[in-house]
This record gives sequence, structure tokens and C-alpha cells, in this order.
Amino acid sequence: LLKNWFALNSQPKAFEFRCSDCGEVHKGSPSFSFAHPIQYGWLDVSERSRRAKLSDDLCAIDDAEYFIRGVLEVPIIGADEPFTWGVWVTQSKESFTRYRQTFNGDQSDGGSFGWLTVTMDVYNRSNAGEPLENLACDVWWRGPGMRPSIEIHECDHPLYHDWRHGISWQSAIKLAQATMHPEN
Ligand SMILES: [Zn+2]
Repeated sequence: LLKNWFALNSQPKAFEFRCSDCGEVHKGSPSFSFAHPIQYGWLDVSERSRRAKLSDDLCAIDDAEYFIRGVLEVPIIGADEPFTWGVWVTQSKESFTRYRQTFNGDQSDGGSFGWLTVTMDVYNRSNAGEPLENLACDVWWRGPGMRPSIEIHECDHPLYHDWRHGISWQSAIKLAQATMHPEN
């Protein structure tokens, strides 16, 4: 009861913390993004230019596998902005083509299905560096210049739990430190 009362009566505030790894104060809600889908990373560097096309928002491999980048927002309880992951999801050829063709316009009436296709060591239930288990997602396209919003289908994965229910301030600190300073 006390916790609920406190939550109702405290204004969300800007997230920041003093980092026990590097000693700096990290300001603002954490935001991390992946430069490419994991499948692109599996290609040898020499194969990448031959077999794949990659931009900040689109990726195709062998004109057979298709990916787009979206935003997964995990609420931080008590903070004014979410913990944001810039993630890649698979797309059917049809969805990818439609997304690419409408990319410069208002796509907010569009959407698609995709599998999350990144690795996040902080959420991985298998070995470090291995892909995150397949998570099914709805991908909600948005207005001009905004990356799609990702919603994870209900499942027992901890990333689904955090996305759906939010994380504590302390969890956000732990996740941010582990992502920024993975060597520790
Ligand atoms: Zn730090």
C-alpha cells in the first residue's frame, strides 16, 4: 500500500545514476542500439558487401532474408523516459518491400510481424554471445522519421516481462552498466 501511494504521488523524473564501474554520472534514460541484425554479423566481412545490403533502418541478405530496425521501449518505473533498445526484426519479403516503398511517408497505418533478431547478453538465457531466443513481435510502423515500435508477444522470456511490466530504477542501473561496461 505504501509503495502504491508513493508511486501515485511522485512525479516521474529524469533517469541518472553514478556508475560504479567507471565513476561517471550517466544522465538520461539508457538507449542502446544494434548496428545490424545478428545474421549480418554472422557473415564474413568479405561476404557482407557481396551478399548483404545494410542501412541504418533496412537490411537484406541474399535477397532472401529481410530485416528492419525498430524501437523496443522498456518502462523504468519512476523515470520520465523508457529504457530504449534499438533492435532488428525479421520481415517477410512482402512486408519489407511495403516498408521500404513507404519509408519516406507516413507509415502509421502500417504494421507487420517480425522475429526479434539481436543478441542481448543481459537478457540471454543461453550462453553469452549467443542469440536471444526467438521472440515473436508485432511491429507498429509510425509517422515520418520515426522507427517502428516493437511489441513482444506474450511469453515467459525475461525481456517480455520487463517490456510489459517495466523495470525498477535499480534494475535499469544494472542493465545499463552491464551493457556499457560488459568487461566487468
Ligand atoms: Zn559507467
